[in-house]
Amino acid sequence: MSKKRFIKNKQPIYIAVAFFIYITAAVFIFVFAANTGPVMAHNSSVLKSLPNITTPDIKKDFTVTEVDNSKLYTGPLVLVNNHYSCRFDGENLVSVLSNADKSYTASDYDVKVNKIAMNALNSMMKDFYSNTQNKNVMVSSAYRSKELQQELYDEDKSNANADSKKVGEEFVAIPGYSEHQTGYAVDLSVLNDGIISVFDNKGDYSWVLENCSNYGFVLRYPEDKTAITEIGHETWHYRYVGTPHAAYMAQNNLCLEEYIEQVKSYSINNPLYITDNSLNSWMVYFVKAENGSKTSVTVPRDCEYQINGNNNDGFVISVQLN
Ligand SMILES: [Zn+2]
Repeated sequence: MSKKRFIKNKQPIYIAVAFFIYITAAVFIFVFAANTGPVMAHNSSVLKSLPNITTPDIKKDFTVTEVDNSKLYTGPLVLVNNHYSCRFDGENLVSVLSNADKSYTASDYDVKVNKIAMNALNSMMKDFYSNTQNKNVMVSSAYRSKELQQELYDEDKSNANADSKKVGEEFVAIPGYSEHQTGYAVDLSVLNDGIISVFDNKGDYSWVLENCSNYGFVLRYPEDKTAITEIGHETWHYRYVGTPHAAYMAQNNLCLEEYIEQVKSYSINNPLYITDNSLNSWMVYFVKAENGSKTSVTVPRDCEYQINGNNNDGFVISVQLN
């Protein structure tokens, strides 16, 4: 066999190899391009797969509704802290002890929370019990009226200064500026053989810290955010904000102050896409409150949405996409 003929016989192989490289490159480019959709915030260690988000057609799928500006100051996303007072005195309150199942308890029948937070708390504690067989969690405080907060504040001031607080002792907020007044906050304790101890997020109780965002709760005053919250680390104080907000805050290590600030940069035309820990997809955007008594808000025609005031200057709209 001559050298020339040998090379000639190899030509089909070269063509096949080149064709294979070409097809592989084309497939790679196609798959890569198909995956570049809206940027979604997610924690890859939590998510197993990414749901398919289609970009909603705002002209076709959305409409405009009028929202009463009084709604700015209510709902599970209100930011209540040293700078923003609570403008309402609890809403839709129910007794925890009357509604709790056998997996946890409350210190008495007067411990009340918002009804939506109650349902979320029940789901969380039911799952906590089935995961740990531990039924020692006790809700020791939840809704507190402005008057009760005043009593606690006066008591606290006459006792000691804030620097000498013991572990588990509440950092008492200025009356009117405590989020306990919203009915969306709970203080957890541990009740074991008649002895009450601090809910420290350790041992079995680490489950609550790790999983609370699945149920719409966040640890409101974490250790690494005290400069922002202006409240000392409280291992026992959980706040209901609702999913998807809790999921996004947990995934991105944001406290409520930071989340409320960040969400202001998202609009209907540039929304925040969130994938919660149950792989539900959400579209979240901010609408600044208008002067006067009402604000025009763009909302979806056919799917469920929530409009929540931030207790200051606008509304956070959350739309579930799947
Ligand atoms: Zn508290």
